Formats: sequence, C-alpha cells, structure tokens
Amino acid sequence: MKLLVTGGAGYVGSHSVRALLDEGHDVVVLDNLSTGHKWALQDCELISVDLRDETNLLRSIKNRGFDGVLHFAAKSLVGESKNQPALYYQNNVGGTTNLVRAMQAADIQRLVFSSTAAIFGNPVSDLIDEKHPKTPINVYGQTKLVVEHLLQAVAESSDFSATCLRYFNAAGANNAANLGEWHEPETHLIPNALRAAAGTGNALTLFGDDYPTTDGTCVRDYIHVDDLASAHVAAIEKMSAGGNFNVYNLGNGNGYSVKEVIAACEKAVGAEIPFTIGPRREGDPATLVASAQKARDELDWNPQFGAIDKIAQSAWNWECYRRDSLA
Ligand code: UDP
Repeated sequence: MKLLVTGGAGYVGSHSVRALLDEGHDVVVLDNLSTGHKWALQDCELISVDLRDETNLLRSIKNRGFDGVLHFAAKSLVGESKNQPALYYQNNVGGTTNLVRAMQAADIQRLVFSSTAAIFGNPVSDLIDEKHPKTPINVYGQTKLVVEHLLQAVAESSDFSATCLRYFNAAGANNAANLGEWHEPETHLIPNALRAAAGTGNALTLFGDDYPTTDGTCVRDYIHVDDLASAHVAAIEKMSAGGNFNVYNLGNGNGYSVKEVIAACEKAVGAEIPFTIGPRREGDPATLVASAQKARDELDWNPQFGAIDKIAQSAWNWECYRRDSLA
C-alpha cells in the first residue's frame, strides 16, 4: 500500500515506519519536526508540513495516490497539556480535524489513529477493556477522546474508516538499537531512569509512593514500541473503506510498579539507580493495565517483547547508542 505517516519522525511513528517498510509498503512521512528527528527517518520522503496549516496540508497530500494514513503527530505530554490546554486542543483536535478534511478532499478513506490509555482516567476495573468508562483526568486524554468521537462521527456519516489504537505505556527501542526514544524534555520513567544511570540526565525523582498499590507507586502496562508498530501494520492492512470504526487497547496485560521498573532498569544497567521520592504528579492514575484481547483476536496481534526486563534492556542499548553516537 502507499501510506502517509504523520509524525513518522517521532518515537512510535518512526518504529512503525520501519515496520511498514519491512512489510513492503511505500511510505511517505509528514512531520513538522517540532519533536520528531530527521535521523529517525529512513529511506522515505519527508513532507514538512504542520497539520494546523490546512491549505498546505491538502496541497501536499492530494493526487499522491495514498491508500491510507497512519496518524501519530500530536502533542503528548500530560503535564504540558495541563499548562497549555489550548495548544493541545489546537494540535490534537484541530490538527486531526484538518487531516480528516484533507483526506476526504483527497479521497483517502482509511485512517489509523494513535489514541491512548489516558482517555480512560481512573480505572474502575483491574483490566481495562475497550468498553471501560472514559473519563480522562488530564487534557491530553481529553483531546484524544474528542478525536475518537470525531472519527466515529465521520465514519458513521461516510465511507471513511478509522481504527483507534489506544496505547498503554510505550517503551523500549528497536533491536538494532539505532532507533529509540528521544524527547526534549524527557518526562518518561524508563529513559529518565536510564539517563540518571548514564549520567546524561537529571537525578531521578519518583512521583509519589502513597498510591493504593502493592508498593505505593503507580502501576503501568509497558508495551514495547515494536509491538505497537506491528499492531499498526496489522490495523492498516486489515482495514477496508466503507465507514468502519474500530477501537483497540494495546498493552501486555501485566502491570509493573514504578519501583519494579526501576529495578528492571538497574538490572539492564548493572548498577543501582538512586532516586528520591517526590510528590505525586498531577493527572497520574494509580493503575493502568490493559486487556488487549480484542486486538489479539481481531488483528491477530501477538506482542513479542512483553517482559519488562527485555524492554528495559532494549531501552538501555538504545540509550548507550544515543549517548555514544548521536548526542
Ligand atoms: N514517573 C516517575 N518519575 C519520572 C517519570 C515518571 O516517577 O521521572 C512515574 C509517573 O508518575 C508514572 C509512571 O512513572 O506513574 C509512568 O510515567 P511515564 O511518564 O513514563 O508515562 P505515563 O504513564 O505518563 O504515560
């Protein structure tokens, strides 16, 4: 297929681009490089357009013969979303609205959308399946939920089909260790822990140890970025036009506490990672663990890199490469 990947220079986007190329798809990346990296792009055309620029967006995608779009481009930091809500609504909701309008004008009828576990808010069950109530407790999650509603409405009123993939905690790096996570500023637990160990980041602060969990720290479902990439390949390949709307949760179904993740990082690094306990971070639910049975059943998705030790090891391999070869 000929596919447009928005945000293809970002973390999950760039791993998905590689997976799509490996499957023989023809890929064009659209990215404004605000948070993505040119080095993460491999052998594919880059269209440098901002999704908020509707005119240039349409101009650059029409008459290109795209069969579908995978849409990763978004603002994605919970804390930032609290401080800059309008920026998040403009990018995530406004940008996606422009993209859908441009796709319709260019007669492109298939979209795979990067959604998030943040749409669920505080869980009311141990495992979160697709039907779990959606009451986001941060602006980032709100914007992603609004986009899901938008896509459902468009699918119900036209031949446009959309599949929303709700990631739990994306983590790890590709096997070759030459592609991985690099955010500025970095806010995520695993890279922050590893950078503290490598001396390339700040000292690690653990955000709250008074949550109602076994060791008092937040529990998350960490899913390897290459497993997310394979879900995107499956989603676009299985998708047909005709006004279909689907949602899938993507996780391993195993929860790890912040302290357990730090222990896995220490094992990968081979050294202790000192941390201090800080206050809770606003917008963090105590526990988020997926039921991804629907994706396994309907997308034949079979995540390969579920063990937290392997995820931490791949992230550490990448961190060493990044420090030695790119920084
Ligand atoms: N966390 C932490 N220190 C950090 C970064 C994250 O204690 O420097 C915690 C955070 O409060 C959450 C978990 O680690 O409970 C995962 O956070 P992350 O930002 O990696 O992903 P999120 O769950 O926000 O998508």
